[in-house]
Amino acid sequence: MDGKIRVGVSSCLLGNRVRYDGGHQRDRYITDVLADYFNFIPVCPEVECGLPVPRETMRLVGDAEHPRLITSKKGIDHTEKMIRYCTHKVQQLENENLSAFIFKKNSPSSGLHRVKVYGSSGQPQKKGRGLFAAAVVNRYPFLPVEEEGRLHDAPLRENFIEKVFCYHRWKMFLQNNGGYKELLIFHTDHKLQLMAHSPKHLSKMGRLVAESKHVSREDLLGKYQECLLEALSLKATVKKNVNVLYHIMGHFKKLISSDEKSELLEIINSYAQSYVPLVVPLTLINHYVRKYRIFYLLEQSYLKPHPDELMLRNHV
Ligand code: SF4
Repeated sequence: MDGKIRVGVSSCLLGNRVRYDGGHQRDRYITDVLADYFNFIPVCPEVECGLPVPRETMRLVGDAEHPRLITSKKGIDHTEKMIRYCTHKVQQLENENLSAFIFKKNSPSSGLHRVKVYGSSGQPQKKGRGLFAAAVVNRYPFLPVEEEGRLHDAPLRENFIEKVFCYHRWKMFLQNNGGYKELLIFHTDHKLQLMAHSPKHLSKMGRLVAESKHVSREDLLGKYQECLLEALSLKATVKKNVNVLYHIMGHFKKLISSDEKSELLEIINSYAQSYVPLVVPLTLINHYVRKYRIFYLLEQSYLKPHPDELMLRNHV
């Protein structure tokens, strides 16, 4: 991994005083933990589209699919101004080489999920998406995106960060102009990670790689990328992880003693029953993989999808 991963972020989450009231919404997990691995590119659509700090609060009004951005008291409509800004900004973001975006929840500009939209009854429905967040998702449908609030949920956080690191590796593969051989290596190294998310996608991607000589490179990589990100969006459940753990054990079960095998099976079973987190069986497995130098497993991204220091598998 050369340098930090470039990630867009709602500017107020970094502690920048860009909010309507002149304050910020610094998120310590982002600034104190993720910042060690991610190089954040701050974006405040409201300030960057020309609105002042402080400013009147705004909300989404009308149809949830095509809401208007209106100030709460004076009713000033900023929709066109924001849409003009978004069109320009999402294009400009292409030069930033982002591998993810973290949005501020509930914002009519930056919120990603369940943003309030006020209908004619005056009653809000949590069905909307901030205008800028919508523009980013439309322009970059494969980009991993999340809200800071959801990053405080351990399984969602692990899933998002795993996806960011994997997408970043994929982007590096694309940037290095990898050919068939490199795609085969990428696919082989990610097999167990894909299996933990979706065995169905793993088979489909295997077929894509096997038949790759018969399709254009552009077609192949487009389809492969779509499957990769679709697979990673599916949750790696305890049941699917247990299946992968047994599969891994199959690679060295003849090398370890029957006592060691019983101990590992017992630990996998404890994980299956949610008595211990995923990091427990994986620590023992990593020990055997290193001890017996099992090359296929040593290269598997599943055994190290993100830095250990983030401790993401201590809570899932
Ligand atoms: S939520 Fe978005 S628009 Fe609002 S202050 Fe933060 S970055 Fe700016």
